[in-house]
Amino acid sequence: MSAVDDIKQRLDIVDVLSSYLRLEKAGSNLKALCPFHTEKTPSFIVFPRRQSWRCFGCGASGDVFGFIMKREGIEFGEALRVLAERAGVTLAPRKAQSRQDQERERLRQINEAAASYYHHCLLHGPAAHQAREYVKRRELTPETVEGFQLGFSPGEGLRQHLLDSGFSEAEQVAAGLVVHREDRSYEFFRHRLMFVVRDSRGSALGFGARALDDTMPKYLNSSQSAVFDKGSVLYGIDRAANSIREQDLAIIVEGYMDVLTAHQHGITNVVASMGTALTEKQLKLLKGLTKRLALALDPDAAGDAATLRGIDACRRTLDRRETVLPDSLGTTSRLDSEIKIIPLPEGKDPDNVIRESMELWRGLVDGAVPFTEHLLALVAAKKMDYRQVLPLITELGDDVERELYLGKLARLVGVSERTLAGIAAQMRPSPKEKATTPKMRAAALETRAAASTGLRDAVEEYCLALLLQYPELGKKASALLPEHFERSENRELFTAWRNNPEPQAIAQALDAELHPHLEELALRPFPPTDEKGQERALADCICRLEERRLRAQQQFLTSEAVSIITAADDGEEQKLASLAEEAVDLDSKLVRGMKGKIRPPRGGEQ
Ligand SMILES: [Zn+2]
Repeated sequence: MSAVDDIKQRLDIVDVLSSYLRLEKAGSNLKALCPFHTEKTPSFIVFPRRQSWRCFGCGASGDVFGFIMKREGIEFGEALRVLAERAGVTLAPRKAQSRQDQERERLRQINEAAASYYHHCLLHGPAAHQAREYVKRRELTPETVEGFQLGFSPGEGLRQHLLDSGFSEAEQVAAGLVVHREDRSYEFFRHRLMFVVRDSRGSALGFGARALDDTMPKYLNSSQSAVFDKGSVLYGIDRAANSIREQDLAIIVEGYMDVLTAHQHGITNVVASMGTALTEKQLKLLKGLTKRLALALDPDAAGDAATLRGIDACRRTLDRRETVLPDSLGTTSRLDSEIKIIPLPEGKDPDNVIRESMELWRGLVDGAVPFTEHLLALVAAKKMDYRQVLPLITELGDDVERELYLGKLARLVGVSERTLAGIAAQMRPSPKEKATTPKMRAAALETRAAASTGLRDAVEEYCLALLLQYPELGKKASALLPEHFERSENRELFTAWRNNPEPQAIAQALDAELHPHLEELALRPFPPTDEKGQERALADCICRLEERRLRAQQQFLTSEAVSIITAADDGEEQKLASLAEEAVDLDSKLVRGMKGKIRPPRGGEQ
């Protein structure tokens, strides 16, 4: 069994989607407000039998992988890993590393080699005396210098060292260590103090570099590469991860020095955001470690609307898997995520504060205010307009919190809460999502157990096998859309085929976990048939995939009708629901009868 099948068998779509949506029963299916478009009545339907979902409002559809991809904005391969973890499936080490993976691995190796070279230069290089002076002046201990592998870039010598170590000129350019300009090439980092940026597992992704004289810019990062993107790394995460998990709190600062000084003083749950406003990608790095963040912002950034919007986006990323916990008093409830702001004294950064006084630092951290309080303080100080703050407050996932802050804001601005709510509604309507109850999940699991679920889809696979094996059929497939494929493995394959039908191009575009699936379809035996027969078979597949879409639509309409009728008379619910299901069943039997003349050859049909 492939990893994809294994994951599908272990995970129930209802269970997974319940972490994101409030699902309600709708006949034998479930419905919810669509997370992909704004709506007031649910048209997002989950079909437990088919283990699929479809929105009749915006037309989005798919299986459990497709949902995670769309919801989290990630590629199939990443969704596969997320769900594999959830399902407890160990993905086999990849047999053939994709070329991209190999490139990434090489980039990490070359960065690692450069990091030790720079570190050696800082400790022993003759040109590094200024850098060593700087390190001494900032009171960094040898342990810190070594632990973070601080370095110095002389500006020459690295290139030859890397060539000697087996890294080509082209690889050095790809890593951003060497730059080509017309007829000359040179080392990118020259006469700078070097900070190695690593991922949470400790692999070197790139560098941050500080000028030691008046050279501009003062700070320089590695340029974007296949492994380095400054919006999705956090400096110090490799050394802070354990501590963040243990203390259930991450402190986010702006500079490299802030991280070094904090860690040196035993404050080890500190990371830096690489000089950018915090991004959702950075948040994802922390998500598995903690949901409690404290941002040490300098007073300018703390009042900057763009910064605040960024933080708010992050906050919502954290809240996506919200759990509402009753507090010890049992009177209110709160979200399990929180973002606090540590207000720094004018003109100071964490590095200054910590070196000056640990007491002062502790006081600031203890006095951190919730993000929402911080917003209100800015409005009160007339540093922000209430209309900028309003959407951030009306989108708070927690009802109690929302009411509380809306009330506070109303009093602050001097208008009624109703007026504020009215303004907010005009600005941006937003459906709220909550997790479903365990009881409903249990019911859904039961539904699933009763149904013989189709992990794979015979028609989709047959259609793809035809396209892969008879390239001339491509011309006849223009009516096919990715949306016709519910199963993510098939949709991925179809999309790759549509972009470029060359077998090698398809394989390259697909995640390695899907290669066995591709091979199987490309080699699936067909009964001998002529060109006409192939065309008929494909036309039949397209017809059936389209018909399936329509049938799902019909089923949705029927369940809607049921809910309308039952609203009038509760007692009849069971009877009406079963009648409606019978109607759908009967209808699909009829359609199958009509279309039943051409079917996929034995094996796949469920
Ligand atoms: Zn939708």
